[in-house]
Amino acid sequence: MGQADKLDSETYPQPAHGWTCFHCGETFTTVGAAQLHFGATPDEMAACVIKAGREKGLLMALRAAEDEIAKLRVWNSERENLARLATLMESDIKRYFAPHGGPQVHTVFEAFQVFDAMEGRAIAAEEELAKMRHEIIKTFIPTKPSST
Ligand SMILES: [Zn+2]
Repeated sequence: MGQADKLDSETYPQPAHGWTCFHCGETFTTVGAAQLHFGATPDEMAACVIKAGREKGLLMALRAAEDEIAKLRVWNSERENLARLATLMESDIKRYFAPHGGPQVHTVFEAFQVFDAMEGRAIAAEEELAKMRHEIIKTFIPTKPSST
C-alpha cells in the first residue's frame, strides 16, 4: 500500500497496539471500543471530552449553587437579626405603655398615635389653664376705676 492509497482511504488499518486517545491516554484495541470512544467519524467528539464537558458543567452548577447558598445564609442571618430587633421593639413598646394603664400598643405607629392623642390633650389642657388664669385675674384683680 502506497502513500496515495492511505490518503484516499476513509480509514486506515488498525495499529498493532490499538488506538490511544491523546485527550485521556486510554488505549483501545478493538474497532468497536475505539469507535465508541472516538465516535464513528473524525468530526465527532471523544467520549472523554464529552464526559469532561458534562462534569465541568456540573462543577460550575455546583459552585454557583454554593455561592447562592452562601448569599442566602447571609440574607437569612440579616432577616433573623431584623426579626429579633422587631420583637425587641414590640416588647419595649408594650412594656413602656402597659404600666401606665394606657391602650394596648404593639407598633411604632400605634405609639405615635398615642403620643399624638396625648399632645392633643396637653394642648386642650393648656388652653383650659389659660382661660382659668384669665378668670382668676378678672375676678380677683380689680380694674382701675375709670377717670371721668
Ligand atoms: Zn479519551
